[in-house]
Amino acid sequence: MATMIIEGDRAKAASGKTYEVRNPATGEVVDEVPAGGAADVDKAAQAASKAFATWSKLPANKRAEVLHRASQHMLGKVEEIAPILTKEQGKTLLESRIEAQRFGENIAWFADLADKIHGEHVRLPDLTTYGLVIRKPIGVCGAIVPWNFPLTLAANKVAPAIAAGNTVVLKPASTTPLSTLACIEALIEGGLPEGVVNVVLGQATGEAIVSHPLIRKIALTGSTPTGKKVMARAAEGLKKVTLELGGSDPCIVLDDADIEGAARAISIGRFFNCGQACLAVKRLYVQDGVYDALLEKLIARASKLKPGNGLEKDSRMGPMHTETQRAEVEAQVKDAIDRGAKAAHGGGRPKGAEYEKGWFIEPTILENVPDGARMWTEEVFGPALPIRRIKDLDEGLRLANDSQFGLGSSIWTTNMAAANRAVQELEAGYTWVNALQIAHDELPFGGTKQSGFGKEHGVEAFLQYTEEKSVVYGGM
Ligand code: NAD
Repeated sequence: MATMIIEGDRAKAASGKTYEVRNPATGEVVDEVPAGGAADVDKAAQAASKAFATWSKLPANKRAEVLHRASQHMLGKVEEIAPILTKEQGKTLLESRIEAQRFGENIAWFADLADKIHGEHVRLPDLTTYGLVIRKPIGVCGAIVPWNFPLTLAANKVAPAIAAGNTVVLKPASTTPLSTLACIEALIEGGLPEGVVNVVLGQATGEAIVSHPLIRKIALTGSTPTGKKVMARAAEGLKKVTLELGGSDPCIVLDDADIEGAARAISIGRFFNCGQACLAVKRLYVQDGVYDALLEKLIARASKLKPGNGLEKDSRMGPMHTETQRAEVEAQVKDAIDRGAKAAHGGGRPKGAEYEKGWFIEPTILENVPDGARMWTEEVFGPALPIRRIKDLDEGLRLANDSQFGLGSSIWTTNMAAANRAVQELEAGYTWVNALQIAHDELPFGGTKQSGFGKEHGVEAFLQYTEEKSVVYGGM
């Protein structure tokens, strides 16, 4: 049975309660884990607070060294960790390897910043007096993570937090705790001091983290409704918050686009991770002149995505993560079809004995989805893509911005003026022009509108795990 990681303790829940983690492809039990609660979060927060006293005082270059060694050790275990992620989450082994690799790389990327970011000297009017702005770590930070990219999204929080000298109480989604435990255990084996990152498990630990008085900042990746609850609760303790929430990224393809490149990017953008991605092409607007050709290419690509158990070599798309999640996407597709949409590809469940025990679904492309359908107005967190004809860029931009969300967005065109207009006018935290929707380490990533606020990735993320303090030195 797996345990929580609280300082040197490999802990069971204080209540003694446990729950099962199941494989979404087969329904089999992968492991039993502790169902933690407020008492466990308290223990973890105390441990993190104790560790902060030494970790935050370690010279920054030494902290960088420790993190580089720990990440190297963890990266040596990618092949062990990837199958654990596939078994608990459902994604293919290739997707799991990429994700586990990204975890270690992210720790190393922020380790590089640990001793490179500094404050400033400010000239004050009286020349015998001078000012400084120094940057300090915040303290104990809470990291709350969803199940779709358990490792990448944990690293997005843990890596900048600990590089800046903070310590962490980390809560993975209840259905995907095992690969996270393996990654943190690998960092500790590689030299990360106990107590710097503590892992608590179980649904109830989320609210307990947000309410705990020792925890000074909350970073959540999750749905928009969860983000609102977390922000309201965090306000009671005046905690800093970073909220990476839902999205419904539009993609506009104009007549002059490289449609081969667009088809590849859209197909990866919509079907990677069985469509369970915040940054994913979720609404597609295609100019009339290339609509038919692009649709044909997308269908050809979707046809090659064989659903299957992620551990099997020939699987190109794993199952949905849970039964509820599949039911939700199926209801959104049904809503579109009931309103007159047509499935240009997929629309149901794959058939065969191998699919009976898992939450499999076909990659789906829908045409003629009317205005107001759930596919356009809600986040579709699965492999179903609505495609719509547009007559020009004006119409594309109007429809693209007609959403409560503002996370990612993309445009395919060879016209610089059109691209520049889209960059200026798309209401989103990220715009890709003729490029795959990849969130690069170097660029700040985060949403606007109902997709949240605050940044992960980039120097900006590191800064958000520090507090500025002004200092005045008078004449001596
Ligand atoms: P969720 O909101 O249900 O859960 C996310 C995490 O929050 C889980 O660990 C959960 O246990 C915890 N949680 C739930 N209620 C809580 C509360 N009241 N207080 C504290 N913690 C609480 O989301 P999910 O279904 O696990 O993930 C899918 C959602 O995440 C989608 O909406 C997706 O778009 C979003 N997401 C956003 C990004 C991004 O970077 N913007 C990335 C990935 C996923």
